[in-house]
Amino acid sequence: MQKYFDKLYKKDFHSFIQELESNIKENKKAFIITANPETLMIGVENPAFDAVLKSEDSTIVADGIGVVKAAQMLGMPVDGRVPGVEISQELFRILNENQKGIYLLGAKREVLETLVKKLQVEYPNLRILGYTDGYVQDKDAVFDEIVQLKPDAVLVALGIPAQEILIHKHYDRFEKGIFVGVGGSFDVLSGTKKRAPEIFIKLNLEWLYRIAKEPKRFKRFYDSNVKFIGKIRKMRKK
Ligand code: UDP
Repeated sequence: MQKYFDKLYKKDFHSFIQELESNIKENKKAFIITANPETLMIGVENPAFDAVLKSEDSTIVADGIGVVKAAQMLGMPVDGRVPGVEISQELFRILNENQKGIYLLGAKREVLETLVKKLQVEYPNLRILGYTDGYVQDKDAVFDEIVQLKPDAVLVALGIPAQEILIHKHYDRFEKGIFVGVGGSFDVLSGTKKRAPEIFIKLNLEWLYRIAKEPKRFKRFYDSNVKFIGKIRKMRKK
């Protein structure tokens, strides 16, 4: 867990987006993992994902407020959240302005098709090089296709940790590109699922809204957050 916090991106959202923009313009590579407490707890319990989180290749950003607070408690403060949904939106804008190419993998087929149509209207200069829903059997074969297309960005929406493990497996095959595991973002960006109202986001209560909307998330959320807080407290005492 300590290593995750050592690696955690410490600057604010604006700086992060600026760095992302220069990386895209200079055809560099980056692999972004958006972390909330649940993500980091999965890392502690799943050796394959732990390796991905600790890898030199990946950059971890604080998606959830829980990670921001924990970093503060550990004396390694970060300058605010870097929310995954907003990373995707900024990416679309930057790619559109620079006429760059994207590949989208994940979510249900209807969701993905709705998102693609929306992007075509809102970002006419964004080059959508291809897209595949997240329920195809052979995702490695999809990556064989993505490698050929040489995209400037690849968004993978399969949920944690499948999306990160898949990206990590194929990352070395690419010479450029921004790779992000975006979880349920396609559902939100397509308009299929609503993001929390502004007031929840401002008050850092987006997690509460998500649980209220999807009560089945509660147990998973509660278990991992209680364990997470326990772990952070222990780390503080050391
Ligand atoms: N998903 C997918 N294939 C699968 C399982 C899930 O494409 O085999 C998609 C699902 O449709 C959803 C996303 O992955 O769009 C996961 O969303 P969730 O909010 O559960 O992810 P989290 O951000 O909580 O990891």
